[in-house]
Amino acid sequence: MNNEKQIRVLVLDDDKFMLEFVSHLLRELGVNEVLVAEDGKAGLFVLSAQVTAVDLLICDIEMPGMDGIEFLRNIADQSYSGKIVLFSGVDPDLLKATERLATVRGLNVIGTLAKPVTVGSLATILEQLASPVRRNSDLSRMRQIFNLEEIKQALLADHFDLFYQPKVAVSSGHVTSVECLARWRHAHYGYVSPDSFIPVIEQCGLINEFTRRILTKSAQQLDVWLQQGLDLKISVNVSMENLDRFNLPEIYEKAVGDCNVPIDRVTLEITESKLGKDFAQTLDILTRIRLKGFGLSIDDFGTGYSSMETLKHMPFTELKVDRIFAHGAAEDLATRAMLESSIKLGKVFGLNVVVEGIEIKADYELATVLGCDEIQGYFIAKPMSPDEFIKWLFDYEKLNYKH
Ligand code: C2E
Ligand code: MG
Ligand code: MG
Repeated sequence: MNNEKQIRVLVLDDDKFMLEFVSHLLRELGVNEVLVAEDGKAGLFVLSAQVTAVDLLICDIEMPGMDGIEFLRNIADQSYSGKIVLFSGVDPDLLKATERLATVRGLNVIGTLAKPVTVGSLATILEQLASPVRRNSDLSRMRQIFNLEEIKQALLADHFDLFYQPKVAVSSGHVTSVECLARWRHAHYGYVSPDSFIPVIEQCGLINEFTRRILTKSAQQLDVWLQQGLDLKISVNVSMENLDRFNLPEIYEKAVGDCNVPIDRVTLEITESKLGKDFAQTLDILTRIRLKGFGLSIDDFGTGYSSMETLKHMPFTELKVDRIFAHGAAEDLATRAMLESSIKLGKVFGLNVVVEGIEIKADYELATVLGCDEIQGYFIAKPMSPDEFIKWLFDYEKLNYKH
């Protein structure tokens, strides 16, 4: 067999013939290790028995006993980090809904396969695996939950760094701003994603100290860039748990002021799904944050419960459409409709509309046509260390590449 690929694939289907057929095709295509399971329970067993992670799971949705949706829920709980392809003879809308559900649970679905499966459709899927597959050694983006003591130690030792992801203005094609994203520099796991530690920091009451430090670091970095003559702004994420004290606007004003950075170059991003615990207090704090001159962004818009209500009352300056309404919008009518209405809604409220999570050119072009102001996503650039960012920025602006 030529072209052998060092990847491990698990195929899950209750139909024995399909299992044999797909396994055969995969081997023909050079996959060196194909595992099979006839039902959800067996699939869970196979996954848990592996010492090395499975790279790709090809999973049927319709199965007796544990169906595909239950199976995906289970592996999401176990933080399965490989890629997933769903296949089934069910109605395409149902397949799409299952894909979305899996994505919302944090799983990495890279596509769907309609039955009958062909060698061509499998080959296309395998090509997508060419991008580096997460291994056990790369736990940075896994939703592994760390214990409180370990996180406290990391806070004390200041083991948190910032990565920067650019936002580009649609009108000019220039980089206007960067989102500052926290990463834990872990001795064993390398850079750990914020989803693994922010919830713990929130629960243990350390989020205020954490956010103040992140804001200070971000403002210090902005100060350096401004001194280098770069015309940039920054966005920093603020947790709803931060809004528990009335003097928060003063704390943030001081953190930014100490770095000699103009406050109007700093936007605070707040996730909408958590807004509205104590409405009066939230409104009080956010309004005074605005009065101090900060920008205020409603993050992950569309994934919460109070979108319209929140927009009507809270003093936001920016709306960030969540990536689940951007990813694949050019191909999927329902996603496109949601993207379009979110952008329109933001414009009606006079907000700066940012679409995040843009990964491909087609979605970039669509978001542009639909009238958003700024775009953020892997299509422009991934979050980068300060050094990487500066190198990237000079290359990008040199080309002044208009997509
Ligand atoms: P967010 O504020 O919505 O940040 C955007 C997230 O989407 C980032 O994940 C970014 O890496 C990711 N992303 C950007 N472009 C793309 C894309 O094209 N495709 C995909 N699939 N993902 C993309 P990250 O850095 O893992 O951060 C996750 C969340 O953690 C953030 O979501 C934010 O809510 C939270 N977070 C990060 N830093 C902080 C912080 O300092 N404080 C607080 N409270 N939360 C933070
Ligand atoms: Mg954000
Ligand atoms: Mg977001």
